[in-house]
Amino acid sequence: MPSTRALIHAPWSASKVAMALRCPRLFHFRYVDKIREPEVMPEAKIGKAIHKALESHLMGATLTEACDTARADLDETEQLRFDALGTGIPAFMSRLGQFRKRRRVARQLVEYSLAVREDLTVTQFYSGDAYYRGVLDLGYLFEDDSIALLDHKTGVRIPGSSITDQLEGYAVLSAAAFRHVRTFWLGIHWVAERAVEWAPSIAPETIHDRLAPTLLDNIEAAALAVSDGPRTNTGTWCDRCSYRGMCPASRELRYEPVEWYDDDED
Ligand code: SF4
Repeated sequence: MPSTRALIHAPWSASKVAMALRCPRLFHFRYVDKIREPEVMPEAKIGKAIHKALESHLMGATLTEACDTARADLDETEQLRFDALGTGIPAFMSRLGQFRKRRRVARQLVEYSLAVREDLTVTQFYSGDAYYRGVLDLGYLFEDDSIALLDHKTGVRIPGSSITDQLEGYAVLSAAAFRHVRTFWLGIHWVAERAVEWAPSIAPETIHDRLAPTLLDNIEAAALAVSDGPRTNTGTWCDRCSYRGMCPASRELRYEPVEWYDDDED
């Protein structure tokens, strides 16, 4: 049974848990005070546009149509960065085509919304009883009762973190939604590196016995981290924080006057 402090902030998601653990003040700006992001970082805009292009292309739009629509709202510099990242899309699609030929795909899931209640039973994404939820970038349900879950990442790899740690939430959500599945494959599409990395396959028992309890513990840790108010936790992530302009800690960090000590005794 989750704690009251965890229930107060439900529904949780992977990014919400990560934000609470990284900086409680940022969490409060976003989820407690519900302040709209004052600025959207270029990395976030480009990442969103790449996701959009991949989604439309997977749903049947031509690559040109998908990219033209997705990059339309970016400024000139962001469009150049989008174009550089987007050059990896055809290679990804061709690899996906070959992969699909080798396996009997029962269903393709693109930007697929999943949600569970606190007891990890399935519910609707926008339902009031949703406790944890997420949108799966791409998934394939195969006729042999296995599933492949893939997350597109436009950022850099986080040193020391495993694919399973990063995608544990999707594994828990899809295990609840597709109860007949016996084998789960978790993968990350590193867009900038044009690489797809897969973790060893996971059985539903592992999700039930290990990943689900870890996920619930992480939610509790996140709820505890934000329970004593909007405490700031500054770090390198402040430079990419959408709320940095209104955060006093960031202002101190960024605009602190440089002390000048004159050691010349003359
Ligand atoms: S600027 Fe840094 S300390 Fe301030 S809210 Fe953002 S992440 Fe937290």
